[in-house]
Amino acid sequence: MFDKLEYPELNVKEVIKEIEKRSQRKTTNINKFLSDETKRSLVDEERKYEKFSSELFKLKPCSEIGDYDKNVANKIYDGVFKKKIREEYMSQYIGTSCPICGQTLGVELDHVLPKSKFVQFTVTPINLVPICHNCNYWKGDNYGNTYANSSFHPFYEDFSSLNGLHFNFNFCNKTSPIEIIYDKKKTNPKFIHIMKEYDMEGFLTIQAVKKLRQIEHDLCSIKVSGTEKMSVDNFQKTLNAMTEYIGLSSWEKIFICDLMKVNRKFYSVLEF
Ligand SMILES: [Zn+2]
Repeated sequence: MFDKLEYPELNVKEVIKEIEKRSQRKTTNINKFLSDETKRSLVDEERKYEKFSSELFKLKPCSEIGDYDKNVANKIYDGVFKKKIREEYMSQYIGTSCPICGQTLGVELDHVLPKSKFVQFTVTPINLVPICHNCNYWKGDNYGNTYANSSFHPFYEDFSSLNGLHFNFNFCNKTSPIEIIYDKKKTNPKFIHIMKEYDMEGFLTIQAVKKLRQIEHDLCSIKVSGTEKMSVDNFQKTLNAMTEYIGLSSWEKIFICDLMKVNRKFYSVLEF
């Protein structure tokens, strides 16, 4: 979750070259829209993007560069980039999980700074991130105007430690036994924002409830097969053994640690 992704091999100069090559070969008239001035501007804008990589919220929306406006940019994106260049771009990310949720493959391209507002970055590879359909849906056209409310950028950022995230347990509540909370002192405010922006709170809550139900089920199987009442110490040992840290993802490690902290409450609910 919130993993860093390898920097794209393509840059806007190569994209422009490809657009021109393809428009010369095919019967498209896109080439005539890309004046030398526009091409230079697109390269300059990409440089600016890289320079501001840690504070992209400072970049200003732009609706046109000369006659390169939203219509032209979309035409190039949908007609050439998505159909032809996307394949080359995506070949670098084959087998990579969605950098946001870490679950599904990244099969859609999200404009981190949305193309509806930032026309200058419509075909700029560093503004295009392969993410899954779900994460793309939640992010929509959001982008933010401060560091704390800006979107996650996997080429430049890494929040995979999930620093400050915790799980709160209320075993008696059957419909929502788990709540996501944050340690205010350790949590980066941007992290809280992106957890909400991509609905990672909802996603993690569902995953965590599934995990809890699985652990309950496994413990109850042991309870049924045992003849004597399990002591709280044995319960703790069994729980420990069941939740080996090997192979667990970051959120699962946090989940297990937090569950261990309330194991006496958990024990009393399961009535051993
Ligand atoms: Zn995702």
